[in-house]
Amino acid sequence: MKIVNSCPEMRDYSRSLQKNGSTVGFVPTMGALHEGHLSLLKIARRHCGRVVMSVFVNPAQFGPSEDFEKYPRQLEKDCELAENAGCDCVFIPSPRDIYPENYNTYVNVENITGALCGASRPGHFRGVATVVLKLFNIVIPDTAVFGSKDAQQVIVIKRMVEDLNLPVRIIAAPTLREEDGLAMSSRNAYLSAGERADAPLIYKGLTEARELYEGGERAGQSIKNCVVSIFNRSRLLKLEYVEVVDTTQLKPLDVINRPVLIAAACRTVETGTRLIDNIVLGGDLD
Ligand code: AMP
Repeated sequence: MKIVNSCPEMRDYSRSLQKNGSTVGFVPTMGALHEGHLSLLKIARRHCGRVVMSVFVNPAQFGPSEDFEKYPRQLEKDCELAENAGCDCVFIPSPRDIYPENYNTYVNVENITGALCGASRPGHFRGVATVVLKLFNIVIPDTAVFGSKDAQQVIVIKRMVEDLNLPVRIIAAPTLREEDGLAMSSRNAYLSAGERADAPLIYKGLTEARELYEGGERAGQSIKNCVVSIFNRSRLLKLEYVEVVDTTQLKPLDVINRPVLIAAACRTVETGTRLIDNIVLGGDLD
């Protein structure tokens, strides 16, 4: 497996693959890989001749009081895991390569970045859209795979790709979960034992919402109340939001009459870890 640190070298590598008739699949990550990331690599592998993964903890998507400094970093292990999952190339740029001195250009996807996670993480999606566009320009992938666990991120990236006519196909991959339902996340490593024990309640709330929906419930508020009541069983999970919104505009649905995203975020009380999860009903993110 190839490891590339420089942007020009990365672009040359992709160009040479494409010149030889291969398609390039791309999985952007911040490292600290788990099975969820590896499942994206496997999906990319199924769709493309070659697979590139990036590892870049993107400072532009972290707020000043967020976990940029303490975000887990384990490059060697990540490269080993990626190679075993069928990755052909890992791109590891330095922050200086991505944001050189006098850097001044950012991508703002409007209207859909202020709600849900955007409400408590101002500037987060500006940082995400900016780095993803830059990585697309460096890696020049034919296809890029993103996890549905970060549903708003997928929706924002798809919007950007369509609005800016980017020649990249975006695939939304299913969320991989631990056996008890907790969505896999690099941040799960921060959790205390008690928080880890309560964390499956997030998906339990979403699953019960799904059951209500499947039983015919279509009132957004009732679905929301159901998720909230399950969160309230834990004193260790402090709910940040539960939203019932459409899957393109992210507008709240009072009556669910189209594909719906039910998304939740909470912060844990002991370690202050932020956890998110979601389900989509009546359709999908594609
Ligand atoms: P991150 O390293 O957290 O930026 O995540 C990199 C990619 O992996 C993003 O597209 C995430 O949505 C995706 N991802 C994170 N957790 C999971 C999961 N549990 N299942 C599937 N994909 C995931």
